[in-house]
Amino acid sequence: WAPAVAPAINVSSLDWPELQSTVSACTACELHQSRTQTVFGTGDRSAEWLIIGEAPKADEDQQGEPFVGDTGQLLNNMLRALGLRREQVFISNILKCRPTDDRDPQPEEFTTCETYLQRQIALVAPKMILAMGGVAAHSLLKVKTPVTKLRGELHHYGEIPLVVTYHPAYLLRKPSEKAKSWADLQFAASTVKGAQK
Ligand code: SF4
Repeated sequence: WAPAVAPAINVSSLDWPELQSTVSACTACELHQSRTQTVFGTGDRSAEWLIIGEAPKADEDQQGEPFVGDTGQLLNNMLRALGLRREQVFISNILKCRPTDDRDPQPEEFTTCETYLQRQIALVAPKMILAMGGVAAHSLLKVKTPVTKLRGELHHYGEIPLVVTYHPAYLLRKPSEKAKSWADLQFAASTVKGAQK
């Protein structure tokens, strides 16, 4: 075990190709030892919506893309209901490397990796961050409040509006919560539209 350390390189001036290659070579925390590849993020790099999930799972680690498989299909359906295609949003996770056995990330792992997400957010400059699931919400907002209490309110990550909703993997296990998630998406969409007026 080695303590997490912040990436030695200052990423705040990197462009997309530089950032992506820096992430793919990153060894700043122990998760680099167990990854197949980094999961950088995908989608429109100037999107209005930034979707952030938890740490990469096994299938994401294999494919190098966040929100794949059944979880990704449900996310795509949720976006479609909002009139958005997957390609029109930017999708990422709070960590770029998969924790072994798909355990939840340690806070210090997110602290180490957060600098990359912050650079992605600065480059995308989204109008809305959708934090999907407790791991994403707790990491981004630095709270331990349950998702049930965080949803339905407008939060911020820095200056960017942030809405919390359930992770699609949870909705697959508990479809009865889909209506609440749909309400969260509509709330987020109304915030984006309000910002455009
Ligand atoms: Fe680097 Fe983030 Fe991967 Fe850790 S999780 S090795 S900080 S890219």
